[in-house]
Amino acid sequence: MGKIVLVTGGSRGIGAAVCRLAARDGWDVALTYRERVEAAERVAEDVRALGRRVLVMRCDITDPRAVAAAFDQTASELGYVEALVSNAGVIHKAQPLACVPIDEIRRVIETDLVAHIVCNREAVRRMARSRGGRGGVIVNISSMASELKGAGGFVPYACAKAGVDVLTEGLGKEVAAEGIRVNGLRPGLIDTDMQEDTGVPERIQRFGPTVPLGRAGRPEEVAEAVVWLLSDKASYVAATVFNVSGAR
Ligand code: NDP
Repeated sequence: MGKIVLVTGGSRGIGAAVCRLAARDGWDVALTYRERVEAAERVAEDVRALGRRVLVMRCDITDPRAVAAAFDQTASELGYVEALVSNAGVIHKAQPLACVPIDEIRRVIETDLVAHIVCNREAVRRMARSRGGRGGVIVNISSMASELKGAGGFVPYACAKAGVDVLTEGLGKEVAAEGIRVNGLRPGLIDTDMQEDTGVPERIQRFGPTVPLGRAGRPEEVAEAVVWLLSDKASYVAATVFNVSGAR
């Protein structure tokens, strides 16, 4: 049996790549999805093909009880949850803040910030040595939007992701002595379905060449950094956030 990682939003994009590479590195994988069960099952097949155990759970991360239940189900069916990759997220249509409806602002802050805080809290409740846990590792998926500040269409999303960076650094310091390493990554422009949700046509083709490295990133290029942070190779890395952005 391998160590167990819980990946939120493991059905598509960066989360799916994390599940596959974590399995390659010997992790058993619990993955959650919100709607797309077929996509989640395809990722699960790939994890099984790599010889690892896998658990697929429907879980809307904006429901705190569902998040707690996902942790409990993973513990009872697979075993001690050693790692969390808090990845699931959404984006709003690209538009000036003056035009963003309040429901969209709330949806993005709930999903991209509040839910990440809740997922981290549930992980710490189980991993902290003072609470009977054996320690662990958390990787939060932020965004370069937190550095670039989102001007020109993504200010609410950037606000949420800036909060995730504070979560990573603040909680990381708070729980380091509990045997928990909390780190984060800021992906830049990555070629996933999320690009379509911005409403910007051909965003990858248009903006990829403007990235200093000359192209958009692939989900696997983010996932490689995630699995390194999960591993013991990153044993002295805690409470910090790295860019994976092609120098964007
Ligand atoms: P995708 O749109 O490709 O995938 C999003 C994933 O999150 C899906 O698995 C989806 O599940 C899940 N999800 C969305 N909302 C919820 C919810 N409420 N509860 C549970 N699961 C949910 O996105 P990416 O892979 O591109 O993004 C992953 C992370 O990376 C996000 O946090 C995003 O902000 C961040 N990021 C992405 C960048 C990019 O350029 N793509 C750049 C910087 C950061 P389902 O499919 O079942 O609905």
